[in-house]
Amino acid sequence: MILYRVPFLATFLVIVKATATNTNDADVTRASSAEYVQSSPAWLANVKVPTNVVTQLPFDDEIKAGPLPKEPFKLDLNSYPKPNKQPPVDHPEVQAVLKHLDFSIIPKSKPRIVKDWVFDMKDYNRTDPDCWWSSSLCKKPKVSYLPEDISICPNKGTWGLNYDDGPYKMWWPTSEKQKEYDQPRFYNYLVEKGKQKATLFFVGSNVINFPEAAQRSLSDGHTICSHTWSHPQMTTLTNEEVVAQLYWTHKAIKETMGITPKCWRPPYGDVDDRVRAIAYQMGMRTILWDQDSNDWNLITGRLKTEVVDNFFKGWVDNRVSGNDTDHGHITLQHENSNMTIQMSEKWLPILQKTFKVMPIHQCINDPHPYWEESWTYPTLDVPEPPRQRSSAGNLGANTSMASSSYYSNLAEAILNLSLLGFAVAATLI
Ligand SMILES: [Zn+2]
Repeated sequence: MILYRVPFLATFLVIVKATATNTNDADVTRASSAEYVQSSPAWLANVKVPTNVVTQLPFDDEIKAGPLPKEPFKLDLNSYPKPNKQPPVDHPEVQAVLKHLDFSIIPKSKPRIVKDWVFDMKDYNRTDPDCWWSSSLCKKPKVSYLPEDISICPNKGTWGLNYDDGPYKMWWPTSEKQKEYDQPRFYNYLVEKGKQKATLFFVGSNVINFPEAAQRSLSDGHTICSHTWSHPQMTTLTNEEVVAQLYWTHKAIKETMGITPKCWRPPYGDVDDRVRAIAYQMGMRTILWDQDSNDWNLITGRLKTEVVDNFFKGWVDNRVSGNDTDHGHITLQHENSNMTIQMSEKWLPILQKTFKVMPIHQCINDPHPYWEESWTYPTLDVPEPPRQRSSAGNLGANTSMASSSYYSNLAEAILNLSLLGFAVAATLI
């Protein structure tokens, strides 16, 4: 039985020709062209990027634990929609994005019906024509031009470390004790544990409210991916609402950190081919997971700490006993509460002893998680990516372009110069 979580609450233009892969589903006729163009978001071309953040992956000796800067990062919050709410679709910036998208090739399935966070599936075809993860855990799209979702690390013994719903800070703390786990606590912890890097799926609303924490994560060498603006069940939204969720998150990330992620994770894993297709046209590939720590259920009180501990123990035991040899893992974990952070801190050292722990893009051998390919991250093949030393912390950009391994058939890159759930409690079941 599938459990559903309930929320309480480039500047570059890179054209990628993705070769269609055959599927035997009739729906592929909706997107039958052999090639499809995925572009870096041209509609973000004029977003002002920050000048106080790193512009390439830092060297390890430049990464240090410490507090967030005292000087707040100035962001015009009035230029953004209300945090943690569905952004309106009639905003001129959203309308501008809509004009760039080709809706003729986006599946025509209707937004899903949901009541009390549970989907109404009684009329949904059991053959799962839309590759709706919430229905069938489908990760291989039926639409030909869409790449398969990333959900595992291919190599056995690897662990694609990742955390959802950040950057975490309590929204309405009532005591100092409650703030104890606010970032950069966990980011400091990761630094202290061997400068461990992770993939962080950020909620756009959290990014604009806690931009200093977001910036800190980038300068610690983590990889940033999108996790929507207000953490909804994405398949329940109209096409326009999906665009608004993804657009504002992308803008917040770019304006705060200067990067444009090519990766996103749908909240609750709720994605189908319609939503995947929109995200893909907006420059992102879908990342899910193959193991769920269920840590999000700690906050709801539905699961006891011991139960979550046992999940981790099982995975570790399985590996140690030599029975976990098919592939590596991407495990769902969260930085959205004191409890999940405590759990993460408890298990990371054990995971590090048992697995080769790394960010997701490293384990899938993709050096370029952003459209700004001045950012080159380590891969299994190239553990030390080329970077330039520069003076005083703010690093100079390396403008060299490199091909992306996501899209092995990258045909050409055209330069067109020209960002919950309450982190708090947001997610839950
Ligand atoms: Zn989430």
